[in-house]
Amino acid sequence: MKKIEKIIKHLLFRYHSFSILKKFLLAPLFGLVLVLPFYIFIFLNMLEMKHSVTNVNHELMPLQEISFNNILLLEKIVNEVNSAVSAKEAEWIDDADKNADKIRENLNRYVESSYRKEVKESIIAFDTYYKTLKEVSAKIIQNNQCYKNIENDTKVLVQNYNEIDGLFKSLKLQIKNDIEKNFNALYCDTNYILFNGNFIFSIWFVISTLIIFLVYRDIKHKINKIVEDSKEIARGDVDFEKRLCIVSYDELGQVVKSINMFIDKLHKNHEALSDAKKELDALYITDRLTNVYNRVKIDEIIDTELKKKKRYDHVCSVILIDVDYFKLVNDTYGHLAGDVILKEFATLLKESIRDTDYVGRWGGEEFIIVCPQTDLNGAMSLAENLRSKVEESYFTIVGKKTASFGVATCKEDDTIQSLIDNADKALYRAKNGGRNQVVCL
Ligand code: GH3
Ligand code: MG
Ligand code: MG
Repeated sequence: MKKIEKIIKHLLFRYHSFSILKKFLLAPLFGLVLVLPFYIFIFLNMLEMKHSVTNVNHELMPLQEISFNNILLLEKIVNEVNSAVSAKEAEWIDDADKNADKIRENLNRYVESSYRKEVKESIIAFDTYYKTLKEVSAKIIQNNQCYKNIENDTKVLVQNYNEIDGLFKSLKLQIKNDIEKNFNALYCDTNYILFNGNFIFSIWFVISTLIIFLVYRDIKHKINKIVEDSKEIARGDVDFEKRLCIVSYDELGQVVKSINMFIDKLHKNHEALSDAKKELDALYITDRLTNVYNRVKIDEIIDTELKKKKRYDHVCSVILIDVDYFKLVNDTYGHLAGDVILKEFATLLKESIRDTDYVGRWGGEEFIIVCPQTDLNGAMSLAENLRSKVEESYFTIVGKKTASFGVATCKEDDTIQSLIDNADKALYRAKNGGRNQVVCL
């Protein structure tokens, strides 16, 4: 059972590796395989039939003619001998020798044939009969009155004649029967060939049609699948994890392979594009120097929080931070050193806030923190906390540094601008108040 399964699998594999043209050639090829042994069979049968016909033409027909002749010749001999006896001419008896020789000659021709057994008996019977016929006839002619056994001898002669005539006739009948047998066999062979020919043709027709239908269905199915998947690709609903199934290694298999390669490339391009998009999106909302959010993102966040304030009365506060005397850093240590301080400052802010808060660079050395769900007191305490952390921190190159904080909380009718203005006013006061302090509006 497993062996059959293995053979079927192997055959299917072979089938799938064929080109489409070869697949369609399977049907005629199958016909050839089926018909070839049949042609060999017909050829062998024809040889046999030819042999039968030759046998009938060259042996049986002439033999039948000979057997017919023998019957006539036997009659002739009797008539000739009877004439000699009637005319009482002993010499005339020898006239029958010619016909007797012909009969012998004829019978000898059978010796070569398949009737030699039957003929042997006839030859002996004829020779004995003819010899007796001549002797009895001669006796009748010579001594008609004194021949006492005449009646008895004649009776025996008639019996012998009937016997030989019977032998000749039975031989003739036998040959006739054999001829008929040969013709019947020929007729049967022809019928047999015709029947088998029709049978083989029918099988070939049915199986070829079936093969062509199956190949057609298989190819149609594959083409439909390719068309469907291609349409999906054209529509743009491609599942990049999905690949067309390679079910054959023919031309369609090549098409499927190419489509899969195309999807591979598309997949890679798509991945590269989405990575680039993510990068772009991040760049769009990130400040390049400090790696915190830029104004675009902060504006968006404040806008969302203001909407929440209006809709759910959620509280939200912002803290505007400005590094004190930052110009001095640039002037003293250079712009690059200033950049380093800005980065360190941003990192410090990022690490000091909650995950739900947002830190962004508002511009220059100004930063902003958006604190959702945080009222003014909460924001003030956070700002104070930040302020003391800044004050206590040690920055590269410059060492100690301070910052001023302006805090404002959202009111229902606030806009981004008004909220920022409020925080800015508070910051301004913090600066005016001597810096390194937290002020709210
Ligand atoms: P204060 O805020 O205490 O009033 O004084 P300040 O010196 O910090 O104020 P000011 O606004 O006059 O100076 C801000 C300086 O910050 C000016 C500018 O050179 C510097 N600055 C702005 N953006 C950058 C930046 O991206 N990198 C560097 N290194 N410096 C910057
Ligand atoms: Mg400033
Ligand atoms: Mg400043």
